[in-house]
Amino acid sequence: MVKYIFITGGVLSSVGKGITTASIAKIIQSRGYNVTAVKIDPYINVDAGTMNPYMHGEVFVTEDGGETDLDIGHYERFLCKNLGKHNNITTGQVYWNVIQKERKGRYLGKCVQIIPHVTDEIKRLIKNAIKKDGADIGIVEIGGTVGDIEGLPFLEAIRQIRIEVGFNNTMFIHVGLVPILEITGEQKTKPLQHSIQELRRIGIQPDMIIARCKTKLIKESISKIALYGNIPEDMVISSHNVEVIYEVPLILESQNVGDKILNRLGLEPRKTDLSELREYVDRWKRINREVEIALIGKYTKLRDSYLSIIEALKHAGVSNNVKPIIRWIESTDIENGKLDVEEELSSVSGAVILPGFGRRGAEGKIRAIQFLRENNIPTLGICFGLQLMVVEYARNVKGMERANSTELDPGTPYPVIDLMETQKGLDEYGGTMRLGAYKILLEEGTLAYRLYGQKEVYERHRHRYEVNPKYIDAIFDGDFRIAGYSYDGRVEFVELTQKTHPFYIATQAHPEFKSRYCSPSPLFRGLIEAAQKLKIRI
Ligand code: GLN
Repeated sequence: MVKYIFITGGVLSSVGKGITTASIAKIIQSRGYNVTAVKIDPYINVDAGTMNPYMHGEVFVTEDGGETDLDIGHYERFLCKNLGKHNNITTGQVYWNVIQKERKGRYLGKCVQIIPHVTDEIKRLIKNAIKKDGADIGIVEIGGTVGDIEGLPFLEAIRQIRIEVGFNNTMFIHVGLVPILEITGEQKTKPLQHSIQELRRIGIQPDMIIARCKTKLIKESISKIALYGNIPEDMVISSHNVEVIYEVPLILESQNVGDKILNRLGLEPRKTDLSELREYVDRWKRINREVEIALIGKYTKLRDSYLSIIEALKHAGVSNNVKPIIRWIESTDIENGKLDVEEELSSVSGAVILPGFGRRGAEGKIRAIQFLRENNIPTLGICFGLQLMVVEYARNVKGMERANSTELDPGTPYPVIDLMETQKGLDEYGGTMRLGAYKILLEEGTLAYRLYGQKEVYERHRHRYEVNPKYIDAIFDGDFRIAGYSYDGRVEFVELTQKTHPFYIATQAHPEFKSRYCSPSPLFRGLIEAAQKLKIRI
């Protein structure tokens, strides 16, 4: 019998519900149970792929090519396992399926309604996702905040699941904020009390409440939350601010959350082993050296736009025993003269050219790339980063004036980056890019090969454009070379030889999505290692 843990959120969004969900999943996984996590997003988009990062944060790409919510990234990184498209359910998918069934006449003349048809479809998608992952326990996070209109059908569906599969097979955990009043320093539980009341009005009585607070919950706050939340005090858990997100499972575990959950679900208690995670956290805290890395992109005002890249840098930092300090560089500000490339970049020890779409900020990135290349600063280009590094080399080394990607300048005389053949003629944007993991063959003797230590690697993709095969001979030479191809001959990695530059490499893929604390990305590890050497040299 599958067990379900449903996580709802209260008071505010962005209180760390995704990390709490990932942490609970981790705690249970660490006891040898097979767990999976599902994120529900109550928006009407079918997936996150068509959304601007400013709206939604990073679009996380799964192995099977799903364009998902960034919480899937948290789940994968905490659980150290791959999830798929099916782990992210949206209102768009639910309605899409219901409307298709209606058109096919599957509802046999019935009037199609939110209850039972939409709620039935939600339950089917949740159950399918957990079954597909072969999990004993499914942790389901309902996005948004209790009380949102669009979240109601999902809350109704999980309420029904409890009735169907029974009290002992379901658990409701509510995560909410306890703000601290600045003037008095007091922990205020009233907003959380209200969101619990709202949940109960819908028919859901939480079994556990996790209170997010800047400081550890005091006894009085716990008592109040328990009383008004109608639950025992030992089911009120304090989740206070931490230095590293991987500490959250440890904090929850210190309050016996794992045993309490298993007990509530009637599962046998088992020994837990979180030593790997604990060691990672301890190592991070012990680091006393820093290295400054520039992140160059156009969504730098919302850090969540590049969440996996930031995480990948941290993982690589721990393996190199150094803390990466990020210097955000807004490429549109380089373009409009607000930032001076030399001033911004001369003091950094390394740089990442961030992924991106569209013309805005691209020329700013190209200027930064030229500076990094000419000044021997370790540089890693990701996806759009690779494309612009090729454009920069074509223009400034190969003399191809106005060389460009046709995405940015359709009339360029040198279309060194062009739309992939398979993309031509597509008229739909959603889910049509080259998405997901593909095999890459690395060339022996290259930096890429040395970093990965193997010939065949799989990285995830999300792009429409690529290095134009017609320009390969004109651009690549003894210094700038192709270091990896896809099985069908597409350019996947480029680099400068290490005779020319200490570390200058780019990939058409997104290695950040596979970086984990338990297995940091080789490219990010290499970047931090090179950046550290540069620092020592200076
Ligand atoms: N805009 C580029 C393309 O579609 C790069 C995409 C990206 O950086 N993810 O190919």
